[in-house]
Amino acid sequence: MVGGGVVGLTTAVVLAERGRRVRVWTRDPVERTTSAVAGALWWPYAIEPVELARTWALRSLDVYEELAASPEVTGVRMVEGVQGEADLDRAMAWAGARLPGLRAATAEEYAGPGMWARLPLIDMSTHLPWLRERFLAAGGAIETRTVSDLAGVGAPVVVNCTGLGARELVPDPSVRPVRGQLVIVENPGIRTWLVATDAAGATAYLFPQPGRLVLGGTADEDQWSLEPDPAAAEAIVRRCAALRPEVAGARVLEHRVGLRPARGAVRLEREPLPDGRVLVHNYGHGGAGVTVAWGCAEEAAGLAAPS
Ligand SMILES: Cc1cc2nc3c(=O)[nH]c(=O)nc-3n(C[C@H](O)[C@H](O)[C@H](O)COP(=O)(O)OP(=O)(O)OC[C@H]3O[C@@H](n4cnc5c(N)ncnc54)[C@H](O)[C@@H]3O)c2cc1C
Repeated sequence: MVGGGVVGLTTAVVLAERGRRVRVWTRDPVERTTSAVAGALWWPYAIEPVELARTWALRSLDVYEELAASPEVTGVRMVEGVQGEADLDRAMAWAGARLPGLRAATAEEYAGPGMWARLPLIDMSTHLPWLRERFLAAGGAIETRTVSDLAGVGAPVVVNCTGLGARELVPDPSVRPVRGQLVIVENPGIRTWLVATDAAGATAYLFPQPGRLVLGGTADEDQWSLEPDPAAAEAIVRRCAALRPEVAGARVLEHRVGLRPARGAVRLEREPLPDGRVLVHNYGHGGAGVTVAWGCAEEAAGLAAPS
């Protein structure tokens, strides 16, 4: 396995728990991956193809609901919130049966058309180490190692979960960064999440996580800089404070930047190598890698080791 973000670790867990001998090679420790930056709300945002993403998301929802029974351990909680400007009918059509209570937001909950839902909200600072430990407990191994040639990895099956790294490694120029910036503040008492888009199309979101409030966000295509931009941070706080005024004076704890691995379509497929070995790709999950992680992991594991 190459890649130890949420997609790689989840796939590694599924394979190892199916009894396969799995070794993960990762360039970065899990705390320094894009996955560690994610907010992370369960919702298929900025991922293609939409229909498949919904299927993967619903499978992942099953798992996250189970994990939410132990939030302190897994980092997964079911949290209520509002998506502003959401198409409730469309959401009902694909997810209504699985999301009890999905309904239009009231005027007190959101000043505009909005959708109320109870969704998994995942604290990645707990969830990623938990995934790592679950993988190790299943007999897996992790090594910090940068791969420059997938076919050169000496394993009968190689699973490629390198996210944006696939651009150079495969190489696959269709994987492109969509830069996202966040501001982490002390939580002034907000308990529900909120996602809203203003008239100019700018998105603002507030995700309450244990010990902090995550404010977002930006989505800048083909931007590679990992340096937080002070003007963008100011705009994020301003947009969030317009929605929840108590945010205006909240003490800033941290600025975070991540590069979403965007692609016209997630690449989840088996590629036979000339020497008879098998390469499985599982990358390009854009803005929803956490949302679809378990559905994609099970499909990738099936491609890697058909039962
Ligand atoms: C600001 C922001 C907010 C987000 N919010 C959400 C959200 O609310 N919900 C949601 O579902 N998603 C969200 N996302 C998207 C989500 O973070 C990504 O889709 C997801 O993290 C992708 O996971 P990954 O494992 O494919 O990639 P990564 O986390 O980038 O992991 C890639 C792994 O591959 C390794 N690697 C790369 N190249 C090599 C190489 N050559 N050799 C060895 N190892 C290599 C890296 O070291 C790393 O371990 C957000 C993203 C950002 C930036």
